[in-house]
Amino acid sequence: MDNSFDVIIVGSSFSGSFFLHRYLPKADANARILVLERGTSHSHKWQIEHKRLSSTPPNSSFVNRTPEQKYWELMIGLGGASNAWWAATLRLLPNDFKMKTQYGVGVDWPVSYEDLEPYYTEAETIMLVSGAHDGAPYPRSQPYPQPEHRFNEVDKLLKAAYPDLYFQQPNARARIDTKNRRHCCGIGVCGLCPTDSKFTILNEMSELYDDPRVTLLLEAEALHIDIEGGRATGVRYLQQGREQVAKANLVVLGANTIFNPHLLLRSGVQHPLLGKRLGEQTSMSVKLYLDGVNNFQGSTSITGSGYMLYDGPHRSEYSGCLVEAWNVPDLRLEKGRWQQKAYMKFIFEDLPSEENYVTINAENPRLPETVHQGTSDYAKRGIAHFRQVVSQILSPLPIERMEIKGPSHSEGHILGTTVMGNDAATSIVDKHLIHHQIRNLMVLGGSVFPTYSPTNPTLTMTALTLWAVDHL
Ligand SMILES: Cc1cc2nc3c(=O)[nH]c(=O)nc-3n(C[C@H](O)[C@H](O)[C@H](O)COP(=O)(O)OP(=O)(O)OC[C@H]3O[C@@H](n4cnc5c(N)ncnc54)[C@H](O)[C@@H]3O)c2cc1C
Repeated sequence: MDNSFDVIIVGSSFSGSFFLHRYLPKADANARILVLERGTSHSHKWQIEHKRLSSTPPNSSFVNRTPEQKYWELMIGLGGASNAWWAATLRLLPNDFKMKTQYGVGVDWPVSYEDLEPYYTEAETIMLVSGAHDGAPYPRSQPYPQPEHRFNEVDKLLKAAYPDLYFQQPNARARIDTKNRRHCCGIGVCGLCPTDSKFTILNEMSELYDDPRVTLLLEAEALHIDIEGGRATGVRYLQQGREQVAKANLVVLGANTIFNPHLLLRSGVQHPLLGKRLGEQTSMSVKLYLDGVNNFQGSTSITGSGYMLYDGPHRSEYSGCLVEAWNVPDLRLEKGRWQQKAYMKFIFEDLPSEENYVTINAENPRLPETVHQGTSDYAKRGIAHFRQVVSQILSPLPIERMEIKGPSHSEGHILGTTVMGNDAATSIVDKHLIHHQIRNLMVLGGSVFPTYSPTNPTLTMTALTLWAVDHL
């Protein structure tokens, strides 16, 4: 095989595939693009038949040094964690981009909400996001491509009490049939979606890999980025037990927050912040036993997003919190009252810390190792405040009894480690996601997030990817 390419992309999930989606229409007819994916391809049919998403156990790919504090959920295989995700596609709030300026904590992003707004719209169009046309907690230039999901009775009571703070959750679990997907069946098992309704790379973007300009190598693990004279010249990878080298003019890392910094560290890239600021949100779960209100009439697994505790001056002192209202049937045993229950998650942002990081495992340098010191005092104060006000916040509901559990040890999001910023001394990539020193090396995904707001991150990652390709 001719091993010279215009672009090498590492990873085939949101980051790699959204890059391809935006790049291919701009690339010339003879362009050569190599995608290295360390996992294999498992169709949705295979996943259903085998009752699992991938044949590669995720924990075989990294070492978690502090599992008592955090565990990290990821997926190895074509389409990565798009196979596993729950497809919640909220945007960040404008203030999430300027935490330092607004609230004196964390750092500001080098991009603003206004910069990303058109790219959010485009990413929502690609994923055919469902959401309400008549209200959102952030400014929107266009309606959602799909109508909103149906609220349940609990959502309706909360919407009536908080008309400007409670909304249908925007998500990529189809409300109505699309060309490639059935509408959401609403039974609440979204990890392995039984009807292939949620957006995945496999069901909506796999045609990218049929483009004659694209060479997709499966079970090809990127090991090292070759760097000469301050430029990336190619990528060394392992396939079928053989180490090989591919050359390229541009190298794009979309291997996620754990593997991106590991690859850079293994390639000799140095920076005091490289691998640092690993983190994500934490959550508390609330089970409600209701008096006289039947629940679970919604049309999807998570129906409501509440911003009652999210933004405001309190974020100077303690974390903002997003309320997620679930519609996954979990029935009561009492006769006649089996639907009188509700489940909610209260999701807290956390502050980036250099004590949380990815490094190279000493025993097996091919493995990244994660270290996390646990939830910060900032988030703990947010949780303490939540305990004080949760009854009041949920008082529009007829609550007989409430059970609170948490904090969680994983939200399924992995952020930080190659953070973006304007200053090369305090960030790894610039605002267009290009490495500050190695100007033909792009890093995509949650690893570039400078802060972790309460919001699910993937829509923002995809919007940033589209933005970055436009600025190449
Ligand atoms: C259970 C679960 C539920 C989630 N739900 C939501 C949600 O509702 N909303 C939301 O916003 N986010 C959600 N997420 C998070 C979301 O899935 C991730 O943010 C997103 O998948 C990150 O995309 P990515 O392309 O950067 O990386 P990934 O999806 O992690 O993909 C990385 C890819 O790179 C490949 N790779 C890694 N290393 C190498 C290497 N060395 N060589 C070659 N290939 C490599 C991997 O095999 C994989 O295919 C969820 C995650 C999980 C696990």
